[in-house]
Amino acid sequence: MTSSASPVIVDIDLQAKGKHFGHIRVPHSTHESAYGFIAIPIAVVNGCSGPDVLLTAGNHGDEYEGQIALLKLMRSLLAQDVRGRVIIIPRLNQPAAAVGRRTSPLDEGNLNRLFPGDPMGSPTAQIAHFVDTVLLPMTQVSLDLHSGGSSLEYLPCVYATASPDTARQARLQAAVTAFGAPLVLMAQQEISSRSLMACARAHGHLHFATELGGAGTTTPATQAIADRGVLRLLAHLGVIDPVAPPPDATRMMRISGSSQYVYAPVRGLFEPAFALGDTVQVGQPAGCIHFPEEPERAPCELVFADSGMVVCRRVPSLVAPGDCVAHLAADF
Ligand SMILES: [Zn+2]
Repeated sequence: MTSSASPVIVDIDLQAKGKHFGHIRVPHSTHESAYGFIAIPIAVVNGCSGPDVLLTAGNHGDEYEGQIALLKLMRSLLAQDVRGRVIIIPRLNQPAAAVGRRTSPLDEGNLNRLFPGDPMGSPTAQIAHFVDTVLLPMTQVSLDLHSGGSSLEYLPCVYATASPDTARQARLQAAVTAFGAPLVLMAQQEISSRSLMACARAHGHLHFATELGGAGTTTPATQAIADRGVLRLLAHLGVIDPVAPPPDATRMMRISGSSQYVYAPVRGLFEPAFALGDTVQVGQPAGCIHFPEEPERAPCELVFADSGMVVCRRVPSLVAPGDCVAHLAADF
């Protein structure tokens, strides 16, 4: 399917020099708006020659550090300070972000599980297709800013997928280190073949994501990592002048397999036996699930199936079978 088959358009010229604000228009005919479209804000800041960079947030609508960081960047970045072109989209899944949900209320679409999209599909699939066929081909570097969202909280980190190519891996490690989050999680394989990350890598992009906190909010500490990290990446790429380096060294850790994840096997109230950032050993209790409708029943006990540091935890105490309550990362 070619990009010309996509009904999605952008109402500004992304090749034009200078700084321009506009919208990606996803046709959406409804009872309230017969000839309407979903308006996804976009800005392009195009200076002299240099790399083409795509910055996105709001892929999941309930993750806020990236949305706020890119709104700030849209206002502050000037074309005369840019060597190259920066395309900025703070709310890639605008319908989901407008209601603060991970998925779109229009079609329940999880954008980060719908790549490479479908031009004739649901609104969320059409957004994915537009990214795959229009935005990724015109750029070489991309950063997709995520956080834990409503159900998870992460230690603030960069999240990347390792490359088997030595030169590409060295370039990726230099970029993620330059971003300056306290932690880098290097996955040994894609968490989903249908993510923006997988799609960007298929285009040959230098690409990474972040997981900056979560729990359905933002904090001064996690927001500062997002705000400064974006600028540090642009400086690392030579797009803007050098900026101050991160205050602390980055710790690199590995995501390698299913044994690092702890899931709830039953419905109930989860009582954790760990805190975010704890180092745990295989076989150590992870917590227990209480059965409030059966108070005489003994809780279901969970244990860690691997050793490592707890880098992510579930936020709501209510759990159902299949809910991830924690995951670990290991040192290299
Ligand atoms: Zn996300």
